[in-house]
Amino acid sequence: MSKSKLKSVETKYIFITGGVLSSLGKGIASSSIGLLLKKSGYTVTIMKLDPYINVDPGTMNPFQHGEVYVTDDGAETDLDLGHYERFLGESLFKCNNTTTGQVYFEVISKERRGEYLGKTVQVIPHITDEIKKRVRSFEGKKDFVIVEIGGTVGDIESLPFLESQRQIAWELGSSRALNIHLTYVPYIKSSGEVKTKPTQHSVKILMEHGIKPDILLCRAESKLHKDIKQKIGLFCNVEEESVIDVPDAANTIYEVPLAFKQQGLHNIIAKKLGIKEKEPMVEELKKFVEKIRKPAHVVDVALVGKYVQYRDSYKSIIESFIHAGSINNTRVNIHLINSEEITQENFVEKLSFLDGILVGPGFGKRGIEGKILAINYARTNNIPFFGICLGMQCAVIEFARNICNLKDAHSSEFAKTTQNVIDMMEKQKKITNMGGTMRLGAYPAHLNKGTLAYKAYGSEDISERHRHRYEVNNEFRQVLLDKGLIFSATSPDGMLVEIVELPDHPWFVGVQFHPELKSRAITGHPLFIDFIKSSLKIRKAKQN
Ligand code: GLN
Repeated sequence: MSKSKLKSVETKYIFITGGVLSSLGKGIASSSIGLLLKKSGYTVTIMKLDPYINVDPGTMNPFQHGEVYVTDDGAETDLDLGHYERFLGESLFKCNNTTTGQVYFEVISKERRGEYLGKTVQVIPHITDEIKKRVRSFEGKKDFVIVEIGGTVGDIESLPFLESQRQIAWELGSSRALNIHLTYVPYIKSSGEVKTKPTQHSVKILMEHGIKPDILLCRAESKLHKDIKQKIGLFCNVEEESVIDVPDAANTIYEVPLAFKQQGLHNIIAKKLGIKEKEPMVEELKKFVEKIRKPAHVVDVALVGKYVQYRDSYKSIIESFIHAGSINNTRVNIHLINSEEITQENFVEKLSFLDGILVGPGFGKRGIEGKILAINYARTNNIPFFGICLGMQCAVIEFARNICNLKDAHSSEFAKTTQNVIDMMEKQKKITNMGGTMRLGAYPAHLNKGTLAYKAYGSEDISERHRHRYEVNNEFRQVLLDKGLIFSATSPDGMLVEIVELPDHPWFVGVQFHPELKSRAITGHPLFIDFIKSSLKIRKAKQN
């Protein structure tokens, strides 16, 4: 852990709540503030408190909750942790995400063990104490802890979190705790007016819980006029200068920290907490954003999957493309294609304009054959192909069926045949309950020199995050090898195939892990960078 820059590590807490409606971008706002503080030289971590009763989002349908983000230490967490990691450029852990489910699980388990010594166990103080314990577990370890509270103020579910916030802010005092509230300021077209009432109401609800906001972040279509800020300030007990604009980011979410900096949000935070004002170093970010705004090239790539109607299901993959695009000075047009709609009749029409095809992760049988068709098209037409987790497993099935002549090749996840080239991992066969039971988190892999993957990484030893139950069936390894499939990486003991690739193809790589969970703003991920690079090459070749 890098050394703290404050004299003594007196961890300061910044709480971020949201009002009026959800999906205003609390995660991006929290990440942006985190980035500015980090770039000012402070150590920072970000924590998400989720009000739902699920212990983690691992068992939730991606349509409901978006992508499940997996940390190095194997926690299945909220996708906001992805934003935090991408903006901060560092790894977070299990302790960075707490849900109501986890809190109650802990308290009820303690009660069963008799640890409350016969007391009546209640929301206050027992649930709130458990929340406070988790929030304050970072004490002395970081200069700043940003705590994002999920949901919208006024929700019944988030009450214990707000009460915990109130108590912590009270205990620490104004030099160590800051309350930031993100609201929405709508523009009513018919009257041509910007309306502050929803913000007033939202702050009123917050104050009913004993929380006075120090700073208001106002999400609006465009910048707020001075008069509006004055009005909001007056009615909400906030200085006018602490009413900050969060206009819709015109090009990319990575502009948000720059917009905050321009309004001096970092200085307002410093002033309120009584620390020295410092200038965040954002030059690299500026360059990164500039290339997203005005890229020199363009490519069209497909993201083939089953959950494409809801973009949040593939959040990290989409962000990884944006990172790799900026690094290649290229706009990546991402075409989300529903694998269930790819058929023998239409696959050429659907896929022929693409410069690259990515087949994404997934569970369940639906859409499998469409994925296999897309992979077949990419393989036989020399289109760069990137398979992630289930996407890689489908690539092995396609190869087995069409090159090894194993016509019944399948994954035992979907059909039990005598040719299950993809099969359940041995350890997984003994597990019966649902949540948190896959092979989860970061595991090392060893790359073979001379492979495409090795060239992309520039290293023999890597560590990548996993979330799977199935793997390449080692009984079929030799058959696949004999026909030319390359195993470019395995687990260090050689037992688990981690990367497959094809020779005599511009770029055909399938990975058992989730590289998208390690792609960061500014630096990207080697495989995504290389995939876009080769897609760009194909694009240029087509044009010449
Ligand atoms: N369903 C597959 C497995 O469990 C793939 C999982 C994934 O794509 N994350 O192995």
